[in-house]
Amino acid sequence: MTKIAIIENPYELKAIKGLGPKRLTLLNEMNIYTVQDLILHLPTRYEDNSVIDLTQAEDESVVTVQGQIYSTPTVAFLGRNRSKLTVHMMVNDIAVKVVFFNQHYLKNKVQLHDTVVIKGKWSRRKQEINGQKMFTDITQLADARFTPIYRVKEGIKQKNLRDMIHMTLKDVTIHEWLPETLRQKYKLETLRDTLHALHEAQNQESILKARRTFAFTEFFMFELRMQWLNRLEKSSDEAVAVQYDIELVKAFIADLPFELTDGQKQSINEIFRDLKAPIRMHRLLQGDVGSGKTVVAAICMYALKTAGYQSALMVPTEILAEQHAESLSELFGDRMNVALLTGSVKGKKRQLLLEQLASGDIDCLIGTHALIQDDVVFHDVGLVITDEQHRFGVAQRQTLREKGALSNVLFMTATPIPRTLAISVFGEMDVSSIKSMPKGRKPIITHWVKHEGYDHVLAQMEQELTKGRQAYVISPLIESSEHLEDVQNVIALYESLKSQLPNRRIGILHGKMRSDEKDEVMQQFSSHELDILVSTTVVEVGVNVPNATFMMIYDADRFGLSTLHQLRGRVGRSDHQSYCVLIASPKTETGIERMTIMTQTTDGFELSERDLEMRGPGDFFGVKQSGLPDFLVANLVEDYRMLEVARDEAAEMIQSGRFFTEEFVRLREFIERNMLHQSFD
Ligand code: ADP
Ligand code: MG
Repeated sequence: MTKIAIIENPYELKAIKGLGPKRLTLLNEMNIYTVQDLILHLPTRYEDNSVIDLTQAEDESVVTVQGQIYSTPTVAFLGRNRSKLTVHMMVNDIAVKVVFFNQHYLKNKVQLHDTVVIKGKWSRRKQEINGQKMFTDITQLADARFTPIYRVKEGIKQKNLRDMIHMTLKDVTIHEWLPETLRQKYKLETLRDTLHALHEAQNQESILKARRTFAFTEFFMFELRMQWLNRLEKSSDEAVAVQYDIELVKAFIADLPFELTDGQKQSINEIFRDLKAPIRMHRLLQGDVGSGKTVVAAICMYALKTAGYQSALMVPTEILAEQHAESLSELFGDRMNVALLTGSVKGKKRQLLLEQLASGDIDCLIGTHALIQDDVVFHDVGLVITDEQHRFGVAQRQTLREKGALSNVLFMTATPIPRTLAISVFGEMDVSSIKSMPKGRKPIITHWVKHEGYDHVLAQMEQELTKGRQAYVISPLIESSEHLEDVQNVIALYESLKSQLPNRRIGILHGKMRSDEKDEVMQQFSSHELDILVSTTVVEVGVNVPNATFMMIYDADRFGLSTLHQLRGRVGRSDHQSYCVLIASPKTETGIERMTIMTQTTDGFELSERDLEMRGPGDFFGVKQSGLPDFLVANLVEDYRMLEVARDEAAEMIQSGRFFTEEFVRLREFIERNMLHQSFD
């Protein structure tokens, strides 16, 4: 989570008066360690306690109403610690019975004929309100009208937390990082007012205004930091020129089992031009799923080897790392010594690998996040490649690059990020695109079918299997950490398929399986020992089984466009016709639109543009999926225009040199202090 620092020296929570060890522990469990964390623990929503007219209220809803008491309140004790307080009230000319359970102390606060405000659940049938709160005086009511609601852990009361935050807000000095000129130009509030507004909300309007300032500040700080970092990188751009052996590289290309596409050739030329120049490469390689980015990476890594350097390839999942390691070893033959480093490589094996890496025996290291651990030391790494780079944060890429002080960097991505957004989020870099698909590929035919059509889809899938092809069946998964419920969905789907298609060999893959189990299933599917692979989105990225031509996505409307596009890209990897069937009965406009778009285009670039236009809730850049920076308030898609403005303002400040004047010395120091430690991802 991206957090802008708002207090220069955020002190420990311990310093708060009256905060005992028990609640301190609970707060820590909520990731609140400092006063700053506390203040940036923003409400997730606001409860509107405005008084309404009971005659207009919906049955069984929670209402806040005002009325006059016409019976003396009575209390009945219902056994140990249980009580029931009953009052009768006239509310908007309705005679209403109001009951409060276990709040008998309220009895002393009210009298016959008092006017009070009651909040509770309204039952029209019983003409009764099951009371939650009673407001007996006007000032109290005004305070409670619009109440922020926080994410809390059991043991911490909303009111406790609210009071603690209010008290702390009074005490601390909030630093105003936004230049005064910008605040005036865009009519933004001070950060101090913004935080007060967010925590002590008065009305919807003040919250919206506060969110606007906060979002802008987040974007602006993010952009300043990133653009400054870029500038620093560019100024230390010197690198050794890579003296690769073009004859050896040509021979390698000639040995490939296929002819390179024009897009691949052009990208390779662009990359090689960077490599042989004495500057550091900083390049994004974009190409739709299946366009053949891996082989481009392979050729570059081999070129490095001929010049005496090592390469690293970092990918987001273990499955993908293993697949890459396998297919690259095959491509290279005995030209290169390829090694795989993931979280599962441990103990002696890992130790040995690290030694070989440090001595230079390993030419190419492929792995997951395991690559950026401190003890992973290269002999001389000249090229760092990240696949599906949008999944890695700026900080992780930075760390990886630091492993080789002078190394060139290539980011590969199949998620076509609109150019403008890419620049805003990743900074200025050179872009190579593979626009053409390998020869003979037929566009994938996509259908959208409602749940009633499931049996028909099965029959269609069976036809493909009869031709000797294979199929994926994907079941939804919301978060990257797989919920039990989702796993159950996959298992249920798997079981039902097994009974419906008893003659087919069916495998299952999900995130709750051990990684060796996952490998085995993947391996079986890859070698056609399985006809159907039922899976969650763990197969999403990069997996390559060309004989698979049928993709069925169950409850497809639960996925964002990006994921759907990636999933679809698992088929259409050979010269056979491939199919993708989306099974979905969406209820929302956005859901329907998303399904329709998927059937209309297979072009990832077009998809991303249309998604930006839609900006629906199932956004293309569903942050969990994409790994793009995540902000507290700002939203990359919804606040996209604001991001552009913040980017331009940050660029102006840096390019004009204003950022480097005395005026901003504190801001500079602050960003510098936080540049490497604080992850913006
Ligand atoms: P992606 O860009 O999605 O990472 P891959 O690199 O996995 O795509 O390539 C997809 C498939 O296409 C692989 O089986 C690869 O061997 C094959 N391939 C790559 N380039 C070509 C080409 N020029 N001609 C034919 N097949 C190719
Ligand atoms: Mg790939």
